[in-house]
Amino acid sequence: MKSKIKKYIPNKDWLITADSWDKDIQGIREAQFTLGNGFIGSRGILEEVAYDAHPGTYIAGVYDKMGSKVSDLVNLPNSISFKISVDGEKLDVSTMPNAKHKRYLNMKHGLLLRQTTYETVNNNRIDYQSMRFFSMADENISVMRIYLTPLDKPCTINVISNIDISVSNVSGISEGRKRHFEIKDVISSEEKTISYLSVRTLTSKISVSYAQTLNISLNKKNWFSKEENMVLKLKKNQTVVFTQIFSIFSKDESEYFDIKNRTIKTLQYAISLGYDKLLMRHCAAWDNMWRRSDIKIEGNPEIQRNLRFNIYHLLISGIDNGGKSSIGAKTLSGEGYRGHIFWDMEIFILPFFIFTNPRIAKSMLLYRIKRLDKAREIAKSNGYSGAMFPWESALTGGEETPSWARNLDGSVIKIHTHEMECHITADIAYALYRYYIATDDEDFMLKYGYELLFETARFWASKCKYNKKKKRFEIKEVIGPDEFHEGVNNNAYTNMLARWNIFVAYGMFMKLKKKHPGEYTALIKKLNLKTKEINRWRGIILKMYINVRKDKVIEQFDGFFKRKKVKITELDENFMPMIPRNIRLKDIGSYQIVKQADVLMLLYLLPDRFDMKTKKQNYNFYAPITVHKSSLSPAVHSIIASEVGHSAKAYRYFLMTLNTDILNLHGNTGFGVHAANLGGMWQAIIHGFAGMKVIKETLSFNPKLPKEIKGISFSIQWKGLVLNVSVKEKYIKIRSVSKISKRVVLKLRIFAKVFNVCAGETRVFKKP
Ligand code: BGC
Repeated sequence: MKSKIKKYIPNKDWLITADSWDKDIQGIREAQFTLGNGFIGSRGILEEVAYDAHPGTYIAGVYDKMGSKVSDLVNLPNSISFKISVDGEKLDVSTMPNAKHKRYLNMKHGLLLRQTTYETVNNNRIDYQSMRFFSMADENISVMRIYLTPLDKPCTINVISNIDISVSNVSGISEGRKRHFEIKDVISSEEKTISYLSVRTLTSKISVSYAQTLNISLNKKNWFSKEENMVLKLKKNQTVVFTQIFSIFSKDESEYFDIKNRTIKTLQYAISLGYDKLLMRHCAAWDNMWRRSDIKIEGNPEIQRNLRFNIYHLLISGIDNGGKSSIGAKTLSGEGYRGHIFWDMEIFILPFFIFTNPRIAKSMLLYRIKRLDKAREIAKSNGYSGAMFPWESALTGGEETPSWARNLDGSVIKIHTHEMECHITADIAYALYRYYIATDDEDFMLKYGYELLFETARFWASKCKYNKKKKRFEIKEVIGPDEFHEGVNNNAYTNMLARWNIFVAYGMFMKLKKKHPGEYTALIKKLNLKTKEINRWRGIILKMYINVRKDKVIEQFDGFFKRKKVKITELDENFMPMIPRNIRLKDIGSYQIVKQADVLMLLYLLPDRFDMKTKKQNYNFYAPITVHKSSLSPAVHSIIASEVGHSAKAYRYFLMTLNTDILNLHGNTGFGVHAANLGGMWQAIIHGFAGMKVIKETLSFNPKLPKEIKGISFSIQWKGLVLNVSVKEKYIKIRSVSKISKRVVLKLRIFAKVFNVCAGETRVFKKP
C-alpha cells in the first residue's frame, strides 16, 4: 500500500519511532507522543482508544477541586476518538494479534503519524494511516486525517467519531477515578455538519467547548458527515479519507466572551482555510520555534535526536497567556503530581524560555506575580510577613500540596513539604532576577518585579531568627531540596538562597530609589516598607549562617555530618545508584544519603560565590552519596562535574538526564514526562558543556566538551539581541544578530577574558 504519510516522516534526527504495538508500554508511549501547543496537551493515544489506554486532554490552567482539598489538572473530553468496525469487527491493535503497526512522532513539525495494517477474522487486511496535529499557529485548532483501505476484499465499515466524555482523572491515591466536569451543552449546527459540546468544571467553573466537523472523501466525492455513526461500503483497494477538524476553547469566570460563538466561528474559519493551509501554517510556526531553540550536536545522531525530544516537550508546554497558567511537573502530558506547579518551573524550566523565548518566560513569571496576594495570605496564615509562595500551586496560587502521597516504595506517607520546603519563595525571586538580567526588562520590574523582590525578602526577614548566643541568623525546621531529611535546621541551600533574595532585594531597593524616585515612593507607600526593615535586611545579609568545614565542604544542614555514613555501591539496571538494601525508607533521614542535588544546587545557582576548591570538595563529598531519586538531580550533577573537570562523569549524568523519558529511567514516564528534567537537560548542555553562565551579570563562555561531543551550536537571546553560538574544542564563534539599527555593544566574558561584541558582528575566539 502506498504510504500517504511518508513525506511527513523526517530524517532520524527529528523522529521518534514505535516499531510495534506493545501493550506494556502503552502509557509511556502516550506520554512521549503527546501533542500540544502550550494551550492544550493531548496524550498520544491510538484513535481506536485501545484497551487500557489513558486518554488525556489537558488545557493549561484548567484545574478543579472536586472531592479533595487540592486541585487536579482536569482530564477533559477526548477529541482523539475514532472507532472503526469492518464487517462488524472493531479495528484495534490490542485485540488483533496480526496487526502490523508503526507510529512516528515528527518532532520537527509536531505531527503524530501512524501506519497500521489490521487483519480481520475474515482475513481482510485493512491499511490504516493517520496523521494529527494540534496547531502551533492557531492554538485552538487541531486536525486529524485518516486514510483507510481494505487490501483483500470489499467491506462495510462503520465509523463512530465523537468527542469522548467517558474520561476521568486517575492520579489521586485515595480518591479513585474522578470526572471533573459536567456537560452543559450539546448541539449540532442546522445543517448538522458541525457538532458542538460544552462542559464546565465542577468547582472552578471553567467552561471548555469543542466544535468539530468530519469531512469524507471517497470515490472522487467529498462531503461533510451529518452523523456520529456512519456506514460506508468500500471496494477492495479503495481508499476513504476522513479529515476531522476541531476548535477548542476555555473560559474562566473572569472572562467575558461568547464561547460558543467563538468556538464555532473558529471552526468555520479553519474549515475555510482547509487541511493543507492549516498544516502549512502549523509547520511554519514550528520552523520558527526551532530556529530559536534548536541545539545542534556534532558527534552522535542518537544524542541529537534525544535532545530534540526533550526540547520538543518544552516547546509544546510553553505559552504566553499573560500569566494565566504555568507549567506543571509533568507538563500537559499526564496527571502525575496532579499537574501542580513546583520550583521545577522557575529553576529548571524557565532558563530555557528566558534564553530562547523571553515572552513566554515573562508569562510564566506573571503567573506567580498575579498570585502574589495569595502568597501574602499564605505568609500571614503561617505567621510571617511579605509573600510566601506555595510549595505546590495550581489555579488560584493557594497551597495545593496533598496531605498524603506515595513514597518511592509505594507506601503512603504524610507530606510536610508545604509546611517546610520554603526555598521555593527564594527560587521564584531568583528566577525573576535571572529574567531581568537576561532581558533588561525594566518596565516589567517597575510594574511587578520590584514588588515581588521586596515582598519575598520581607518573608525571609521574618522567617529567619537571630541567635543571640551565636550571633547569627538561622532558619529552622525546613526541608531543603533533599526531601529525605525533613524538619532540619539551617539547610545551606535555603539559608543561602534566602540571603541571596534579601541581598538582591536590597540592591534593587537602592537602585529603585536612585533611578526611579517616583515609582520608589509609590511602592514604599503601597508596601509600607520601613527603613527599619531595610536595615534588618543588611544585618541578615552579613550574618546568615552556613556551616563550612575546614576542608571547604558545606554542611547540608545542622548535624548532617553526624548522620550515619553509607557507601553506595550498587547501580540498578538503568545505572542509577541504589539506596543500600539494608536501609528502610522510613529510616533514611538518619543516614548521609541525599535524594537529589542540594548543596550542589547552591554551587550551581550561585556560581560566583564559591571558588573552585569549594566546588571540587563538595562535588567529591556529595556526588557519591546522592541517589537521584528525583529527575531534577542528574542535570545539576552533570554541570558541576563539567566545571570541576570530571568530564566522563559529566557525560554519564548528562545521559541520565537526556534519556529520562525516552528510556523511562524512573519507571513513571507513563504519568507524564518530567518537566524539570527537560529544562535540566537544556541547562546541562548550554550551561555545562557549552559553559555558558551568567557570572557577575556578564554572559560568560567557558566550554567543557566531553570527548563524545565535537561541537554544539545554538541560539540564545541576551539583552534583546540574538546570539548564534557555535562551540568547538578549540574555539567559540559568536554571531550577534540585531534587528535594532543603533549600535549595541555587548560585554561578554570568553575563556575568562572580557570582550566587547557589537550587534551584527561575527567573532571567533580561540581557546588560549
Ligand atoms: C522532588 C522535588 C520536585 C517534585 C516535582 C520531588 O520528587 O523532590 O524537588 O519539585 O518532585 O517534580
